[in-house]
Amino acid sequence: MTTMLMALLKGKLIDAVGAKRLQGYICPACQQRVILHHGTRVQPYFAHCSKEVCTIIGEGETQQHLIGKRQLLIFFDAWGTVSLERILPDIQQRADCWVERDGKNPIAVEFQCSPIMTGQVLGRTRGYQKLGVYPFWILGERYSKQKLGWSLIERFATRLRGWGLCLLFWDIQRQRMRIDHHLYQDALGNYHGRTAWLLNIEELVAGNQLPLPKLVLDYPKWRSRLARDLQTKRPAVLAIQEVLYPTGHHVLDVPNFLMTTTVTLPVFGQGLLLWRALVMAQLFALPVLRITGATMNVLVVKSFKTVGGHQQAVWFSADEALLKARYRLLADLVALGYLRPIGENWQICRQPKWVGETK
Ligand SMILES: [Zn+2]
Repeated sequence: MTTMLMALLKGKLIDAVGAKRLQGYICPACQQRVILHHGTRVQPYFAHCSKEVCTIIGEGETQQHLIGKRQLLIFFDAWGTVSLERILPDIQQRADCWVERDGKNPIAVEFQCSPIMTGQVLGRTRGYQKLGVYPFWILGERYSKQKLGWSLIERFATRLRGWGLCLLFWDIQRQRMRIDHHLYQDALGNYHGRTAWLLNIEELVAGNQLPLPKLVLDYPKWRSRLARDLQTKRPAVLAIQEVLYPTGHHVLDVPNFLMTTTVTLPVFGQGLLLWRALVMAQLFALPVLRITGATMNVLVVKSFKTVGGHQQAVWFSADEALLKARYRLLADLVALGYLRPIGENWQICRQPKWVGETK
């Protein structure tokens, strides 16, 4: 059931706060009748009659959503002229908050409290972009409790100046914005980010200039987790071992020289290290001594799939990260004397040794 804070009465927009109990309130989106709900302990709001379907799909609004929208209206106030529940008939969407800025593109604020599928986020985001509107996805309580991982990143992570790849949350109790920023993955597949609490829009614009903390990779812990995953036959790890097996290698024997403190866009599934191991194992198992760029690309993409990599998120793709990873791996293998570049191709010079291999 779509609910709202603003309804039409005789052609004028009326805020539910301060609205009188009258007949004749109309939904600004579908022009059907709506009713004022006004209790002593809840935020007042308008709602459709239960059997009516609105043309705009809105959240079945919770108190959190209603309160949060009003707080966000204040938060974004310094940025321009803000209003609640802007209806965009062209794309059949309703922005929770709307910021008009002089000489700049408008901003839509989506305060997301209820569950939503990736396809819906994508559809709504593209809808706004089509109109030249920048949508801020700001997440409610249910999301703030979730562990940082692909599910959140795929739908909501966006790049903001001064914050890198980040996720935005709104806490209605603290009346503050939480930003999980500079999100990345280490080579062992762990997700990282830092959290800041923002009081106002100036702090959001300022960004965070603190240097990133030093990355510590717990290799032994990673290895024992991998061993346990193999024992319990975790499908994601078995898939990797299945590719390595015909090359004569074992996932627990990944050579130390493949280790890297490089961090990546968080698209690498089980991590950059296993991706590097997969590419290298298959590369040196090829029945040829000369490797072409095309062959290399096939291994890069194939291994990305095997390692559970993610090609596309709502706000970004993995293309650039994958290109960088390919470049670094090849540079390392050349530097270590396993490969030699010849024109556009690579010559295999010697076979790398994996841990525990004596021959
Ligand atoms: Zn409606």
